Amino acid sequence: NNSILQADASTLAMTDRHPCYSYEAHHKYARMHLPVAPRCNISCNYCNRKYDCVNESRPGVTSEVLTPEAARDKFLLVRDKIEHLSVVGIAGPGDALANWDNVRRSIELIKEVDREVIFCLSTNGLMLPQYALEIVELGVKHVTVTVNCLEPVTGAKIYRYVNYRGKVYRGKAGAEILLKNQQKGIKYLAKHGVLVKVNIVMVKGINDKRIPEVVRLAKNLGAFITNIMPLVPAPGSVFENFAPTDPAELDRMREICGQDMRQMRHCKQCRADAIGLLHEDRSLEFNTAGKK
Ligand code: SF4
Ligand code: SF4
Repeated sequence: NNSILQADASTLAMTDRHPCYSYEAHHKYARMHLPVAPRCNISCNYCNRKYDCVNESRPGVTSEVLTPEAARDKFLLVRDKIEHLSVVGIAGPGDALANWDNVRRSIELIKEVDREVIFCLSTNGLMLPQYALEIVELGVKHVTVTVNCLEPVTGAKIYRYVNYRGKVYRGKAGAEILLKNQQKGIKYLAKHGVLVKVNIVMVKGINDKRIPEVVRLAKNLGAFITNIMPLVPAPGSVFENFAPTDPAELDRMREICGQDMRQMRHCKQCRADAIGLLHEDRSLEFNTAGKK
């Protein structure tokens, strides 16, 4: 094992309380996702922006969006009611780093009222080179980056456009910027002690053949774990008529990649406002809008 993991012992110990990073933890510890990130800066062909970000969540249910203050209040309410709430994650409904001011403020406000909670972010990685330093300084130790491919030519089949610093790039040009920034960002985070989870959406005929190479790259960049996810074709997305990933093929791919890298196999593709243990979403109980 030539992993170049840089995380220190206390960060690794935290993982025992993180239901997504540790299979054992997911029976006991709960997480809540705070929907404080409405916008996105790229367009994935498997996404329908009416729904939550597929980086970390299943399409099909739209969440309400919270201000940082409302997010803190919701956290306090949930912490009172749910035992073993260990993780606050930000997973959309858009991209965490396309809404960085909101996300940072939410984390700061929650840190003022709780020192134990573990923060977790998920992102497409486009803005990581810009914000990775702040993520590290904020003390966030768990970041998920969705990396679907290595080559811009494949990226052009997955991403419709990339909106980078106010300019829209399409096709290979957009994918090239995104892939470069993802890789640079993961390397920086890993080097600074962050446990990076790399999500990969498996799309047959598009990126499936080269997923083992994506996993090896993730490992070489210092990532902690990879999570190969099935495609859930979202109505209204470019891939809406694609077949959902075959569970047996997904398992085989995880088997193959497991020889190189730790694999997450218990992801539930939770929504951006999910609350509770991974297998029992209680978000409806805490929906501040009071209806769904
Ligand atoms: Fe949708 Fe997430 Fe992709 Fe943005 S990064 S287009 S929210 S799946
Ligand atoms: Fe964990 Fe997967 Fe749910 Fe994210 S989407 S909280 S990684 S189970």
